[in-house]
Amino acid sequence: MLIRDEAGLRLLRQAQEEALRARRHPPTGDFHLQKVAAVWERAAKSQAFRDIGAFSWESFERLPITPKDRLKQDPWGFAVGELAEAAKYYETTGTSGRVTPTPRHLEDIVWNTVSVAEAWRSVLSAEDRVAILLPSDIVPVADLIVGVCEYLGLPHTRMYPFATGISDWDRLTNLWSTLRPTAVFAAPGVLMQLTRLLTQRGTLPELSDHVHKLMLLGEVSTPALRTRLGAWWDATAYDVSYGSTETGTLAATCPAGNLHLLTHAHYFELTDGERTTPLPADGSGRLVVTPLNLHARPLLRLDTGDEVEISSDRCDCSTPGSTIVVRGRSSDGLRVRGVDLAIHDVEEIVYGLTPATGYLVEIDEAGTQARLLLERAPGADRTGEAAAADTVRQACQDRLGLAWDRVAFLNALPSTTKSGGSQKSWKRTNVRIVESAR
Ligand SMILES: [Zn+2]
Repeated sequence: MLIRDEAGLRLLRQAQEEALRARRHPPTGDFHLQKVAAVWERAAKSQAFRDIGAFSWESFERLPITPKDRLKQDPWGFAVGELAEAAKYYETTGTSGRVTPTPRHLEDIVWNTVSVAEAWRSVLSAEDRVAILLPSDIVPVADLIVGVCEYLGLPHTRMYPFATGISDWDRLTNLWSTLRPTAVFAAPGVLMQLTRLLTQRGTLPELSDHVHKLMLLGEVSTPALRTRLGAWWDATAYDVSYGSTETGTLAATCPAGNLHLLTHAHYFELTDGERTTPLPADGSGRLVVTPLNLHARPLLRLDTGDEVEISSDRCDCSTPGSTIVVRGRSSDGLRVRGVDLAIHDVEEIVYGLTPATGYLVEIDEAGTQARLLLERAPGADRTGEAAAADTVRQACQDRLGLAWDRVAFLNALPSTTKSGGSQKSWKRTNVRIVESAR
């Protein structure tokens, strides 16, 4: 119950009108000018931006881009106001393991929730019952989904399976039979674990019967993985959003399964490291973002570090806003035997060509030895495994120029590959440095 007075209700209405208008007409240059001017005003009150001077569009375009590391190293330097003014306080753990304090004002929460909910309204329906397998303690992710469900009026339950003392897999599956969810929000790794468990118990057909939508978020999900999960559950798997704790949600899925940029909520630019230009209709580069509705920690020209491809004609749905494909996060780059390896490359092959339910890349310290371990689906027929491993080896050679020392199936991967914590990086969950990887 965040809205408790007239001012809160006006805020909600304003966010709603803006989101609805943006779905009919793409925002104009004038809209962005006014919104950026307001962010500039708010940002100037923080330590980090106190010397930016008076606003003009020229001064905005002259402002150096803000490296993500600068924000990570000094999160409080970007904060505005006292902690007591915050509506919620979260902390997130980044890829480096460092904790980022994340206060949220009422404005931050309302604007982001409404913007995401109005986008997801095109995928979720009024009849949906929602299961939320995401953490709700300390980190903000499950709160956003709950906020969206409340806003859209959908019955929902948080059921993160790793909330010790409250919830576990048994509790979750019992509750599942009662709620009979039609839409499931989860990180891909957690959903994969649930899939393995239900397959082992022989209950997947029964418990997946009413599920129509798999709403994946919290970590990168690749098209091949979504296709695989969708086939197991006989449901449509969506990559529902792209964004970060620092910026809020930058893009949301459409019914066709593409991520469309939320251009009414952010001002986007692309950079090649030297030149930064307004977002083109089509193009690629590193995404730079100025979120238009942040209050607790306003940001100007934040370099997301994400290499992206922008396209105006990838999707023929009626959602305004270019589509975005995230090609890689600079922090997720990995060099194996002289080859730059990205999560998309590996998963297209692993999930595209085999029925594996997970994988682990093992490399030695020098990156000269490398093996790929594939997790066998429960009850899988092992007779085809040698051939499947050969297919993977050949595809990696042909498509990536990468020769593995070994490709092998095993029964279960170590628990580090299971993204129980959610929001972990690919390198932490699916790559392991070992003494010898032959
Ligand atoms: Zn679309």
